[in-house]
Amino acid sequence: MTERIFISPAKYVQGKNAIHNIGQYVKDLGDQAIVIADETVWDIAGNDVVKYLKKEAIQTEEVVFNGEASKTEMKRITDIAKNAKATVVIGVGGGKTLDTAKAVSDDINGSTVIVPTTASTDAPTSGLSVVYSEEGVFENYRFYNKNPDLVVVDTKVIAGAPKRFLSSGIADALATWVEARSVIQAKGNTMAGGSTTIAAQAIAEKCEETLFDYAHLAYESVKAKSVTPALEAVVEANTLLSGLGFESGGLAAAHAIHNGFTAIKGDIHHLTHGEKVAFGTLVQLALEERSLEEIERYIALYIHLELPVTLEEIKLKDATREEIIKVAEAATIDEETIHQAFQVTADDVADAIFAADQYAKAYKQKVNK
Ligand SMILES: [Zn+2]
Repeated sequence: MTERIFISPAKYVQGKNAIHNIGQYVKDLGDQAIVIADETVWDIAGNDVVKYLKKEAIQTEEVVFNGEASKTEMKRITDIAKNAKATVVIGVGGGKTLDTAKAVSDDINGSTVIVPTTASTDAPTSGLSVVYSEEGVFENYRFYNKNPDLVVVDTKVIAGAPKRFLSSGIADALATWVEARSVIQAKGNTMAGGSTTIAAQAIAEKCEETLFDYAHLAYESVKAKSVTPALEAVVEANTLLSGLGFESGGLAAAHAIHNGFTAIKGDIHHLTHGEKVAFGTLVQLALEERSLEEIERYIALYIHLELPVTLEEIKLKDATREEIIKVAEAATIDEETIHQAFQVTADDVADAIFAADQYAKAYKQKVNK
């Protein structure tokens, strides 16, 4: 019997204008920080973060992230952090910036502060990074000995981000319960390295419930650039519930299939993480004995949120069986999480990919979308 393991960040802060208080939380961790953000994010939130850190007399070294969470970029920023004698690493931005900040912090043995500017993935709270090649192909998961020390989510910043980011985060978060449930059933292991706790199971279930209740309203809130209770609920679901739920609840087929899609060339690379995960989730549901009613519940929500549900919508309309087999092979390599819940071959996964595509097409025909 494996041990139950649950891991989480030390502190999670979420609210409208939360960045204004960041200095008060960071000063408990240290007074020499390196702040990492990409070019666009510097204007959106990075400069504000620095301003509020300075208010609490925290010194900052500022770095422009080059866009890819690759080993080379992680090394480049680690060198800057060492030169600046930073003890606190603050990542401001999207998943890849945050994953790079975690790697830098681990390399210098520092404190990790994560400031997501979108609710587009569940990367912020986890103690792992996804490492990509410089061309953006999934390489590996990198695990750390601790989760972030502090996560600060400013919902005013999130409400100002394009709606596509929120819908992508909802898709990533909708995979959480689907994947955790399958890992629990199969008694598989989670990203935390043990079996699922009751706590993680409850969090993953609540994540799903919150999204089906509030995703529509939150999506409209972001269109109106407004912070509402519905948006706060969905931001927490996308970030905290999904983050804890995937890491300590378990990943299975949906994310393995997402990783498989990164292995092929083409326009699919223009899709967000969550958009690929949305389709991956439908594939996982197709691999399981799920009812028509349950599968259609997901398809309907994805369509409402303008998420892709068919191969055509993930830019693979003309994909041949050989190409899909390539995706399926990448999704079923030995290290992949699919094996925590499924005993399937690449051929089974390829069938499920074509089936998921057909289920969505049939649904669209039925409802005339
Ligand atoms: Zn994800």
